Amino acid sequence: MFCFQCEQTAKGEGCTKIGVCGKQPEVAALQDLLIYAVKGIAQVALEGATVKVNDPAVNAFTCEAIFSTLTNVDFDAARFVTLINDASSIARP
Ligand code: SF4
Repeated sequence: MFCFQCEQTAKGEGCTKIGVCGKQPEVAALQDLLIYAVKGIAQVALEGATVKVNDPAVNAFTCEAIFSTLTNVDFDAARFVTLINDASSIARP
């Protein structure tokens, strides 16, 4: 795991074994995967915007997904699995 998301990060450099905040490596990996998926969705959304295609549900999901990784208060791995599956569903035609 490697996380340097917040000011609590170990030695000011990054948490590598377990988060100072309590984040487990499994959750860090799931958050990374979710961000990776959302980056892919964002690329498609931006391309769609160039031809005036806009999906408010995708926009709302993007905000929800990104925010879920920011708060550092809910480290429920199952929640991230659900969000990753939702991202996958959005990405499929
Ligand atoms: S969010 Fe947690 S794991 Fe990430 S840098 Fe901050 S304390 Fe470390």
